[in-house]
Amino acid sequence: MPESQLRDARWLDARLRRLWDAYFSDAPAGYPITVFFGRRARYRYGSIYSRGRQCFITVNGLFAHPAVPEHVVDATLIHELAHYVHGYGSGLRKLHSSPHRGGVIDRELKQRGCWHIEERAAEWRRTRWPDFYVEQNGHALEHRALREEDGNARWSAFLEAPGMRTLEEVRHRADALARLFGFGSAPFTVEWLPASLHRRGLSYRMRSTQTVRIHGLLADPRVPDEVIDYELLYWLATEACGPHWHQLEQGLKQRRLWARASRGIRWRRKVWAGFLAEHHPLRSRK
Ligand SMILES: [Zn+2]
Repeated sequence: MPESQLRDARWLDARLRRLWDAYFSDAPAGYPITVFFGRRARYRYGSIYSRGRQCFITVNGLFAHPAVPEHVVDATLIHELAHYVHGYGSGLRKLHSSPHRGGVIDRELKQRGCWHIEERAAEWRRTRWPDFYVEQNGHALEHRALREEDGNARWSAFLEAPGMRTLEEVRHRADALARLFGFGSAPFTVEWLPASLHRRGLSYRMRSTQTVRIHGLLADPRVPDEVIDYELLYWLATEACGPHWHQLEQGLKQRRLWARASRGIRWRRKVWAGFLAEHHPLRSRK
């Protein structure tokens, strides 16, 4: 296979630029875009999000396979670019209250003259994609060991995707917060937990190994910083102030951390269950 045909992030980037120039060149430019292959998902072809002032577009990892027609990749890219011009992941003004409501993406692609790409791709996805997906993943669906391997691979891909919170960042944060409690550094090691679907806790303290394992989904930049902070503060305050809730609350209030912790607590209560159901890397979604 000639090198130019290798489907990697650079290949994706070149296609994205071509599509932008052909169909979106009159659109306002928002955050710069980084594009890469992401999860090998059943139901999700692509995604767009921002972190800081950087836009990230992911394309289904299975689309890197040379048997997937290039127009299927292109259809995913123009779909995400339509989100981009609608203000998702781009820092541009949001034009619609919800990313897909009322067929706004289809209308955008029609107006820009690239609807034919989506139509061809939709045909392939309808007729070929289900079999292709099973061919590529059939072994993982059949054998538990391989499924676990697949789960680990999915977690790795998730945690290593550009824009995710890194373990290093969280450990730095743990050390900084630990100093507020008189520790030189965090009295435990922070690790990500590549959690199975039935794990619903946001973090776990492993006494035997002196580690705190934080649910890997909290690496997602859409999870507010306060949520991570609260998980860390909970274990730090428990260590420094005692195991009872009133001790924890008092310890945080004395250090003026209570308001911040409360925002984390509120997110846990109101958002976490839904976020977990929607974004867990081991869950296939429609
Ligand atoms: Zn979409």
